[in-house]
Amino acid sequence: MAVRTVKDLDLKGKSVLVRCDFNVPLKEGVITDDTRIKAALPTLEYILSQPDTKLIVMSHLGRPKGEKKPELSLAPVAKRLGELLKKEVKIASDVIGPEVKKEAEALKAGEILLLENVRYYNEETKNDPEFAKELASLASVYINDAFGTAHRAHASTEGVTKYVAQTAAGFLMEKEDNFLGGVLKNEDKPFVAIVGGAKVSSKISVLESLLPKCTTMVIGGGMAYTFLKVKGFEVGKSLVEEDYLDTAKALLASAEKAGVEIILPLDHVVAAEFSETAKAEVIDDVNVPADKLAMDIGPKTLAAIKGKVLNAKGVVWNGPMGVFEFDNFAKGTLAVAEYVAECKGVTVVGGGDSVAAVNKFGLASKIDHVSTGGGASLEYLEGKSLPGIVALEK
Ligand code: ADP
Ligand code: MG
Repeated sequence: MAVRTVKDLDLKGKSVLVRCDFNVPLKEGVITDDTRIKAALPTLEYILSQPDTKLIVMSHLGRPKGEKKPELSLAPVAKRLGELLKKEVKIASDVIGPEVKKEAEALKAGEILLLENVRYYNEETKNDPEFAKELASLASVYINDAFGTAHRAHASTEGVTKYVAQTAAGFLMEKEDNFLGGVLKNEDKPFVAIVGGAKVSSKISVLESLLPKCTTMVIGGGMAYTFLKVKGFEVGKSLVEEDYLDTAKALLASAEKAGVEIILPLDHVVAAEFSETAKAEVIDDVNVPADKLAMDIGPKTLAAIKGKVLNAKGVVWNGPMGVFEFDNFAKGTLAVAEYVAECKGVTVVGGGDSVAAVNKFGLASKIDHVSTGGGASLEYLEGKSLPGIVALEK
């Protein structure tokens, strides 16, 4: 779907309210990763480049659960955003209320006000209409650039759109929608889906949604062992979801019917126990020894994946291939990240841990789209419509 974007609106002289995802990691009041703030800059800079605009920005941060917790104030974000924009960013005294209204009205052309953490109020997550109206009353234009929260119908992402004259998506939202939507509409073959992570239960909807779009589906990570068990292989102490054996079996049957090639691990890197310091051992067999658990995919599996990924016109990847947080078991995920980075086709990575892996390996810039939304990108790939995007289509 193509959403209306900030470029389609005449912003001259307007007060523009922008929902960003500034839910950054903080350690003792210091921002440890400002990726999300940087990701919002194109939209904010564009709005500021338009004649006489006033910018009001809002976001949530952590889970204050309706309490004004000072440690979850957006003040450090205001400071960092100001440094990045090379402009002062004022922090509002609150999220809504007469004081905030005054602060917004006092803004001069080109000035920026960051509201306090919208989740200081429970009305935010409850999508309370009065709260949404209060937010809406601060501006005449609303822009949503918070892809990371687009899967939630909250007051600042959904409710607010009902009470503002004009609404549109920001550039980040547009990019996410174009790339993730492109994956689901894909006609360009060969197309490879790589799905990993811990559990079948959390990924089954993604598998089902991607299966009809791809020519090859790689299933790796912990979830692969439920599939290998269904196929009659020994899985040792590897992660298996007994309740999902039938689901896994049904997926394999649909793949066969649809003529989609499924690649499961052909060999493994195993450990005696699930631990960071466990010794890694390569097992050159599909079967996992009874006293071992599979922690990563092996070299034979990687060789099978490599050719498919390098020749693909498109690749979508969600979920690590192994316990990449432990250095001894990160090789499979690293190698797959390198293949995706090397692929000449359109490449998209989505999912919290997969994105963390790609960033950890320093490969994000070599991939066409690394989604900024964990849960949101997962739901998008499941084929669900996201309330935050739907609300902009009206
Ligand atoms: P994403 O956040 O990218 O959607 P998931 O949350 O589904 O990915 O899965 C990530 C987790 O899966 C990681 O913490 C990783 O350690 C775990 N994992 C990967 N392979 C295995 C395995 N063989 N056994 C146990 N856990 C695994
Ligand atoms: Mg995860």
